[in-house]
Amino acid sequence: RGGGRRMWRIAVRRDGTLPRHRLNHVRDILRRSASSQQGSGNDGAAQRLAKWWRGQAQSHDETGDGTEGNSAHDAVVAANGASAVQYPRVLAVPLQRRPLLPGILLPVNVADAAIAEEIQALRSQGRPYVGAFLLKENIEEGNKTMEQAEEDMHEIGCFAQVHAAVADGKGGTQVLLMGHRRLKRTGVGSKNPLVVDVEHLKDHSYDASDDVIKATVMEVVSTIKDLLQTSPLYREQLQYFAQHSGGFHDASKLADLGAALTSAKDTELQEVLEQMDVPERLNRTLLLLKKELELSKLQIDIGKKVEEKISGDQRRYFLMEQLKNIKKELGIEKDEKSAVVEKFRERVKEKGDLVPKEAAETIEEEINKLQALDPSSSEFNVTRNYLDWLTGLPWGVTTKEVFDIEHARKTLDEDHYGMDDVKERILEFIAVGKLSGSTHGKILLLSGPPGVGKTSIGKSIAKALNRKYYRFSVGGLGDVAELKGHRRTYVGAMPGKLVQCFKSTQSCNPLVLIDEIDKLGRGHSGDPASALLEILDPEQNATFMDHYLDVPMDLSKVLFVCTANMLETIPGPLYDRMENIRLSGYIAEEKFQIARRYLDPQARDAAGLRPEEAGLTDSAIRVLIDDYAREAGVRNLKKLLERVYRKLALKLVQVEGKELEQARKEGSAAPNPEGAVVQAKHMVTETDLEEYVGPPVFAADRLYEEPPTGVITGLAWTSMGGSVLYIEAGVLEQGEGKGGIRSLTGQLGEVMRESASIAHSCARSVLSKIQPDNRFFSESALHIHVPAGATPKDGPSAGITIATALLSLAMEKPAKKGIAMTGELSLTGRVLPIGGIKEKAIAAKRAKIKEIILPEGNRRDWKELPQEVKDGLDAHFVKVYDEVFEACFGNPAQIKWQEQEEKASVV
Ligand code: ADP
Repeated sequence: RGGGRRMWRIAVRRDGTLPRHRLNHVRDILRRSASSQQGSGNDGAAQRLAKWWRGQAQSHDETGDGTEGNSAHDAVVAANGASAVQYPRVLAVPLQRRPLLPGILLPVNVADAAIAEEIQALRSQGRPYVGAFLLKENIEEGNKTMEQAEEDMHEIGCFAQVHAAVADGKGGTQVLLMGHRRLKRTGVGSKNPLVVDVEHLKDHSYDASDDVIKATVMEVVSTIKDLLQTSPLYREQLQYFAQHSGGFHDASKLADLGAALTSAKDTELQEVLEQMDVPERLNRTLLLLKKELELSKLQIDIGKKVEEKISGDQRRYFLMEQLKNIKKELGIEKDEKSAVVEKFRERVKEKGDLVPKEAAETIEEEINKLQALDPSSSEFNVTRNYLDWLTGLPWGVTTKEVFDIEHARKTLDEDHYGMDDVKERILEFIAVGKLSGSTHGKILLLSGPPGVGKTSIGKSIAKALNRKYYRFSVGGLGDVAELKGHRRTYVGAMPGKLVQCFKSTQSCNPLVLIDEIDKLGRGHSGDPASALLEILDPEQNATFMDHYLDVPMDLSKVLFVCTANMLETIPGPLYDRMENIRLSGYIAEEKFQIARRYLDPQARDAAGLRPEEAGLTDSAIRVLIDDYAREAGVRNLKKLLERVYRKLALKLVQVEGKELEQARKEGSAAPNPEGAVVQAKHMVTETDLEEYVGPPVFAADRLYEEPPTGVITGLAWTSMGGSVLYIEAGVLEQGEGKGGIRSLTGQLGEVMRESASIAHSCARSVLSKIQPDNRFFSESALHIHVPAGATPKDGPSAGITIATALLSLAMEKPAKKGIAMTGELSLTGRVLPIGGIKEKAIAAKRAKIKEIILPEGNRRDWKELPQEVKDGLDAHFVKVYDEVFEACFGNPAQIKWQEQEEKASVV
């Protein structure tokens, strides 16, 4: 102090550093003292200190130790030896907020220049002690900075040591006060600055060993601890206190500290200050602390709630992100995009070199594109779908084709009865495949009436060749996109059937069955026929381009099998490329065998019945075939059998459910028929049939048991197979010059109308030869009708039939019984060959016809027919109409002669 220099004692940590809060504090002091002492010349110490401090600050920053608390010596403390005797009179420092309590450090802003000056003077004199008094509540804010009268202050204050006093540069001074003991104003020493006489107060004496006090002390301490947990704000005060008060045992100091820690109102704190009774003060403090604790808990609660409110969604988002990252890190789950990309890459890798270059390039491009897209965008989805298709196709994967004739024969026989010619054709086909190594470029066409097994034999062929099977129908198909796919730009775009087929069979050489190719729709957008041609044509289909896929696909390994009911409506260019295999329908015996061997067991199985429980007798099946299901195929027969078994099942379950169950159990547990009650088998006989399937349907085949005069039985061939049809001729009107066909009914097509006209002319010339006097044709207006008018009929093959019907009418002579005919007629009376011989023969047999007249040109077809079809049928082959006439009515010469005889006898 000799040189007028100030002395600071700075306690440092053992490691020679200062905690940050102290550093800041010192920095403040230094800055202020430097500025207030500018030019005084004796600031060497301050500068040295500043230099030292800079080093401290640096090392502090280096260690980065910003925590407070562990240090043992961490305060700037001035020597404290002021006694009450030395200070009967002190400078009165007014406190605007919060009273100063003993043992507490309090920074105070001294606005009054006189007081500040005095403080500086006291400090330089080495007597830095003042009295700190709280200003009374009612002093208005504005007046507080004015010169203070003593009445404005509380009477009780605190004797305080000035730890630091730094001008704040705005005319005020920052003073750091350390409270020591209580003071009471007793009088005024001098004014401006106000100096007061004081009495240094002592606590009332109390018994420190009292249990209640001890307990209260403990409670205060634990409350302080709780408070610290909720808020670290008070830690500094507390540490300081702990170091300088010698612990928490002193009830008086503890009470002061506790109160100072709270944010209680000034008056409440002042009350604590004024309370000289220690136990009472302790109680007050405890109360304040408890309040504070509640408050701080409340504050935390409020803080939490607000935080929750704000961050509910955000938190979720962050957590999800975190979760994703964690999963990614652990390899549990990739994020969507990379998982998708990986999946596609994996698929491509699996297929390896088999993927054609073009496809591989497209896939790579699309994957790169995908990676750049936002997973929630619609384009991402479009690209992903596209990639899904691209990578999901069986590029280059084929099943090993089997060209084993024996195996094929067995497979075909297993599933189908008869059809020998069809099977033979298929075996030939396989043999060729065996020799040439492939069946490439072949398109099979299975044509025939419904229900003859076209679809199911297609499936068998796939099995025989060990190819995957895929079927789709083009019946009524009008949209080319079904075959060739949509462009990807369409919403909900899909690839075409062929791509779908590849994906679902996972094979590049499946057997594709295209059903109902004869019923291909007319395209409303594009032409389905030409799209189909593109698919089927071996010249083009190695680089088939689906609109959606947009990458060439090789269809050349696919074996195409088409089905059709009739050939006429198949688009020409398509038909040209096909190899037609005809399935003509079954005769009764074949149907019986199919039913007995395949359909009956299948239907029984489907109904859940066992062979030992139920069945149909042979004769019942025959009746079903003859009277209920006369179609060319067996689909109706199959349905009927299924109906029989369903009814049977219901009956058994209703009537004998229990016994049936029992019998089944015994049967399967111990197959011991001897002694055991054997369940009676339920056989459906022909007489039961009505009960199961109703009365026989009336068949058009049976319109006439014996056709009368003017009606002739013809044979027709439709897409439903062969059938028997009747041609009826009648006279509308007779008279001079009225001859001709007036009316033609029965849904006849153009060709058939022409046939009728030709037949009329031909019949007329025949009649004129036989009965030159018969003026029937020139004088009769005729009506020709073909019953079953609901079905359209067309074709030339009814020519001879119409002519015969007209002649029968003209001669008033019925044709021979049990005869039917088919053949085209020319104007000169020649009979031309027609199609569908087998179907017609089968139909004739079904209708119990014994004799048929066929064109000579069809003799070869007849020869090729299986013997069982020909059996029981007497065929006449005719070249000219006269032969037909003879077959129906007998020798024309005889007719003439007979008639003359008759006439003569009449005469
Ligand atoms: P299509 O395709 O010619 O209309 P389907 O193939 O659908 O006829 O045949 C109808 C049913 O008749 C199928 O259940 C089929 O198994 C059966 N079927 C047809 N022909 C035979 C046959 N020759 N042997 C055994 N079952 C046959």
